[in-house]
Amino acid sequence: MADYEYRTAVKRLRASEEARALLERTLSDWHEACRLATECAWPHTTDARTIQSMAYDAIREQTDLGSQHAILVTKQVASALKTCADRREKGLPTSKPRFRAPTLTYDARCLSLFDDGTVSLATVEGRVRCDLCLPSDGEGYQHQFLEDEAWSLTESTLSLRDEELRLHLGFRRPLSTVETAGNGAVLGVDLGVENIAVTSTARFFSGRELAHVCREHAKRRRSLERVGSRAAHLIVERLGSRERRYIRNRLHEVSRAIVDEASRYDCSIIALENLSSIQCLVSRAEFSHYWAYAALARFVEYKAESEGIEVVFVAPRGTSRTCAECGYCDQSNRRDRATFRCLECGASANADYNAAKNVAMRAVRGGQQSSSRTGTRRCALKSGTVNPNGAFHPYPVGSEEESADESAA
Ligand SMILES: [Zn+2]
Repeated sequence: MADYEYRTAVKRLRASEEARALLERTLSDWHEACRLATECAWPHTTDARTIQSMAYDAIREQTDLGSQHAILVTKQVASALKTCADRREKGLPTSKPRFRAPTLTYDARCLSLFDDGTVSLATVEGRVRCDLCLPSDGEGYQHQFLEDEAWSLTESTLSLRDEELRLHLGFRRPLSTVETAGNGAVLGVDLGVENIAVTSTARFFSGRELAHVCREHAKRRRSLERVGSRAAHLIVERLGSRERRYIRNRLHEVSRAIVDEASRYDCSIIALENLSSIQCLVSRAEFSHYWAYAALARFVEYKAESEGIEVVFVAPRGTSRTCAECGYCDQSNRRDRATFRCLECGASANADYNAAKNVAMRAVRGGQQSSSRTGTRRCALKSGTVNPNGAFHPYPVGSEEESADESAA
């Protein structure tokens, strides 16, 4: 069987009241069907085909679900029962699974996407047509899965939580052999607090708002924890999940923009600092930032991968103290948090931008030593590239574009 890679695109749906009502009835029948299939199978089997043969007729007779949904129910029940069986094997307590989540499963047989941005979904009474909401900037990258023929629709989930309808569209494509041929241009990225990220092409992503949200949240959490009641505890948890959602969205935006920046400058490699050693972080940021860096690196990695851009990690040591122009390394090069001035050659720059160039150069030199398939690497700057020997080559005239989101830190 071929190997596939999988991606999910999350879209909001606009549905008429009738459509919404039909989807809710479908969900209620879905729950009933899951209960029926569980009654048939528990605790005898966890095999999807067996469960299908035991429960299919009952589902079709006692609910209004269509044939494909009946099959998807038996698959979902099989997977839930398998989880139970695994727990039992480990000696963990198990009970008969119940299905109450407000989510319905779809696949290409009961869901169709159309070019006009609509989707048709099977319900207990034929199909309903809904509008897919257009992507906001942050999730524009997900659109490629809808438009690119290499990706095909696979199992997807419709969530009817709260007021909103959300469709988690699953896509897959066959894993190809190495897609990166690459020209060896490296985009260096420095991660930090004041700026979440700065690229070697001088693109800055401010971290001020993010830091503000984290600080405010920490303040409220501390005061609620002093209250100590159960209600206060619940508020802390709710705030926590809201904060995480906000941070995730911001990190998605930034990671998308970093990958776009790499494409724009025709880079085949993105270099990030290796943050696996937590020690190097504590000096740079609060400990709580660790997961945000890790998440950002992961987002960059998978978004880059789908565009054939390789992500490499370099040792972070000294990137903020070293001069990107002459290589002189001294703590005193850092005049303050934001400014870098080299005591040796006098070069001065924004400190995070200087660090981003160092990150890129480290990957450039690293690529020179190993027999990289990307050949000779070059560091991508705003106005040209630098080769491992430090020689600068300007971009051809006319290829330079204005950076949209540039601002001094
Ligand atoms: Zn210098």
